Amino acid sequence: MSFFRPDFTARSASVRVRFGAGIRRTVAEEMDTLGVQRALILTTPQQAGMADEFEGYCGSRAVGRFTGAAMHTPVDVSEQATDLVRALQADVVISVGGGSTTGLGKAIALRTDLPQIVVPTTYAGSEATGILGQTEKGVKTTLTSPKVQPEVILYDAELVATLPLPMTVTSALNAMAHAAEGLYARDRSPISSLMAVEGLRAFRDSLPKIMAKPDDLTARGESLYGAWLCGTVLGQVGMALHHKLCHTLGGSFDLPHAETHAIILPHAIGFNAAAVPDLLAPLADLFGAAPGAGLWRFAQQNGAPMALRDLGLSESDLDRAADLASANPYWNPRPVTREAVRHLLQAAWAGDRPND
Ligand code: NAD
Repeated sequence: MSFFRPDFTARSASVRVRFGAGIRRTVAEEMDTLGVQRALILTTPQQAGMADEFEGYCGSRAVGRFTGAAMHTPVDVSEQATDLVRALQADVVISVGGGSTTGLGKAIALRTDLPQIVVPTTYAGSEATGILGQTEKGVKTTLTSPKVQPEVILYDAELVATLPLPMTVTSALNAMAHAAEGLYARDRSPISSLMAVEGLRAFRDSLPKIMAKPDDLTARGESLYGAWLCGTVLGQVGMALHHKLCHTLGGSFDLPHAETHAIILPHAIGFNAAAVPDLLAPLADLFGAAPGAGLWRFAQQNGAPMALRDLGLSESDLDRAADLASANPYWNPRPVTREAVRHLLQAAWAGDRPND
């Protein structure tokens, strides 16, 4: 099939992206290329050991570390880290971690305009976008700005080789969700669609190999390639029902980010497949069944969580979740009614296989 459209607008950011097992060790060269001298290294508390490692690579040019990155980029944490940037006169941030750490680097860049070097350790894909979600007093807001787009990304397969398998599969499905929804985005371009299909293919091929051999660096490298492509799609086009459902469940019911994406994806795609079968045909080709059903089987075969009830959501919460998710809906290729969302959530809660 062709992704050509007679009218389209394509956007692409100027980002330097390097792949390779061990590429993180070149981080000081990347500082040279950017013309910067004073790095602040960012991690979560769980990955503070990474700060030791990166201080080793940067030597005296590592002027400090901030190991307090947290899920959903709380504004008070970002302000604390920005104060440290100013006190240390840092001129670059090096974010080593998943979407939470990347989010902190972006929040600092928003406030200071400093360049960012991102070294991803999950497949979330945030490093490839100019999007920042922040939370303040329990309310999450999202903005898009070239200021928050990272300048350099180092994709190192060695860093995801130790990502535990349950996180590997949910993080991969989180990335795949960006590409799957990108296929029917109103503002898609031929390039975003090409990237979406190749990103989905990369995960389809690499994930089973990783499940069989978690330290297979070639397969891990291919999965990072998938994450880059899927994340780039997220940065270029608008998302729809799937992302709205996940934001609702994460924001109002505190469900974990990647797991929620993994469970909802087959159901949201199955729902939309009825409206845009041609646009989702690449998914059917890749996963060998109807788009939603094929993704569901792929998730199950790779050990993903399959039911929202297993994340602790109670059945009595589904009505409120349906109310919230159908209020102020994102644009979606199939009209979203409260009844349809309630039905979809029931199936996702129980872990049923979608038909479409
Ligand atoms: P995360 O960054 O919160 O990481 C989850 C946990 O896993 C953390 O404790 C982290 O330290 C740990 N971890 C990360 N990599 C590891 C590894 N290789 N080995 C062992 N432990 C590891 O989770 P995430 O799913 O990567 O990111 C989720 C966040 O990213 C959410 O807040 C989401 O909104 C955001 N996000 C933003 C965008 C965007 O474009 N703005 C895109 C995707 C996700």
